[in-house]
Amino acid sequence: ALIKSADFIKSSSKESECPHEGHPEFALVGRSNVGKSSLINALVHRKELAQTSKKPGKTQLINHYLINKTWYLVDLPGYGYAKAPTAIRTDWNEFTKGYFLKRQTLVSVLLLVDSSIEPQQIDLDCVGWLGRNKIPVTIVFTKCDRKKKKKNGGRKPEENIKDFLDRIKPLYAETPPWIMTSSETNQGKEELLRHIAQLRIL
Ligand code: GDP
Repeated sequence: ALIKSADFIKSSSKESECPHEGHPEFALVGRSNVGKSSLINALVHRKELAQTSKKPGKTQLINHYLINKTWYLVDLPGYGYAKAPTAIRTDWNEFTKGYFLKRQTLVSVLLLVDSSIEPQQIDLDCVGWLGRNKIPVTIVFTKCDRKKKKKNGGRKPEENIKDFLDRIKPLYAETPPWIMTSSETNQGKEELLRHIAQLRIL
């Protein structure tokens, strides 16, 4: 599983504006600062791709990238940025939820969760919402290279991950697939691409 080409296709402000080609797609979402742009860079080897999504004005849009001419990697706005005006936080809910609920070609949400901090309520809420709405999710833990630090409560990524998975257990009959990644060491990159390849042919 290798990414040979990645082409930016378009930015959309709602589901009805998204591309219609019907390629299977995987949507990246997570709290601001979770490491989404770093992961996109690590996956795709092209800095300008992830930067597109950081340009002012593009951050609140649904960005479609065509990978290997066969599937879409979709970059969705980050959520839970404490400094964002309430209006923007509400908007995230409205149009992102619309996208999740309507998008027929969505194979799985790739929900990024920061493994260097303890479970965050907003991430647990997001997993819960996706589960209740029967939207398939893959949990992608980021920053798994981070050593335990005092300021993170002295906990290792593995401990935060175990806590997170324990806390979502009551929400699911079966724990969703999850993968440990690091954009610093490229940990999990191959596994994530293999997982995507596998889901595409199901
Ligand atoms: P985004 O806001 O979700 O796009 O997050 P960024 O990709 O901009 O990353 C946010 C911060 O986390 C930056 O300071 C990155 O250097 C750091 N970061 C991202 N990925 C990793 C990782 O895998 N390991 C470590 N140690 N730091 C990371």
